Amino acid sequence: MIDRYSRQIIFPGIGEEGQDKLSRSYAVIIGCGALGTIMATSLVRAGVGRVRIIDRDFIEYHNLQRQVLFDEDDIRNQLPKAVAAERHLKKVNSSVEIEGIVADINHTNIESLVGDADIILDGLDNFETRLLINDVSLKHNIPWVYGGAISSFGMTLTIIPHDPPCFRCFSRSAMQKGVIQTCDTAGVISPIPFIIGSWQTAEAMKILVGRGNINRELITIDVWQGNFYRLKISPRPDCPACQGKYEFLEGKFGGRTTVLCGQNAVQVSNPKVASLSFPELAAHLKPVGEVSYNEFMLCFIVDGQEMVVFPDGRAIVKNTNDKSLARGLYAKYIGT
Ligand SMILES: [Zn+2]
Repeated sequence: MIDRYSRQIIFPGIGEEGQDKLSRSYAVIIGCGALGTIMATSLVRAGVGRVRIIDRDFIEYHNLQRQVLFDEDDIRNQLPKAVAAERHLKKVNSSVEIEGIVADINHTNIESLVGDADIILDGLDNFETRLLINDVSLKHNIPWVYGGAISSFGMTLTIIPHDPPCFRCFSRSAMQKGVIQTCDTAGVISPIPFIIGSWQTAEAMKILVGRGNINRELITIDVWQGNFYRLKISPRPDCPACQGKYEFLEGKFGGRTTVLCGQNAVQVSNPKVASLSFPELAAHLKPVGEVSYNEFMLCFIVDGQEMVVFPDGRAIVKNTNDKSLARGLYAKYIGT
């Protein structure tokens, strides 16, 4: 085992003591796109003892340009991202406990899914779920590292609970400045998530080993323009999260239907469903459309509309941004 990590142990910031700490650490990665795959592969290779990867999505061809853990076989086998990531990473480092969990993070399940993590890493594509992570981080005293990448531009910020600024302190000004774009309109080139995901990983390693300078400024990088900036974020005196009001965790915001960034797809959740039987659902859908399924997901095509259904009752309706159309198809074919 020592030999596997020898180059990292020689590095004075880690050393044998740091390696030992990493091996006893538990990291949770939420979102397994470009950022998530970079962070997951780096942390598993670094020997973090337990790595949980949570993602709600399946793999498509346009992911392969930048999501380093996936390949064409994963698409042919219709694997969700979390499952494919777990399978690939188990071959990389069998001494790490790796769990891929296919789930949509929301205020009802995040506390049980994140549990007693030592650190949370953000590989998400939306601010709302990040604000939920922020609430959980502050409530349960778990540091987390925000990261976002779009076009040739990315940013990252490390949040230490009860040492403002937190993410909510920062997010209002970010939203007001119109920083939020979507992958739909802006695209993305792979170097930027690689850089941001690597930066997030370094922050995680420093926090887990308890050494190095934790970065508390907002880092922004544009690889095409060649820009790198550090911006000081001021704590917000009226920040609800910093005052112990966890509004996102209480479910004050957010709904059951979400337009998925960069995918031209809509996700419909169904809190009433605990688990779906695919054989039963397939039998019910076969007379009206084209159905295929494995243990992870069921694909259904009807009248030119394609839908992917997960065992937790969630569905992703492809090729639309129309929430009401998606809800209608769900109600008609899967049930409410
Ligand atoms: Zn705050």
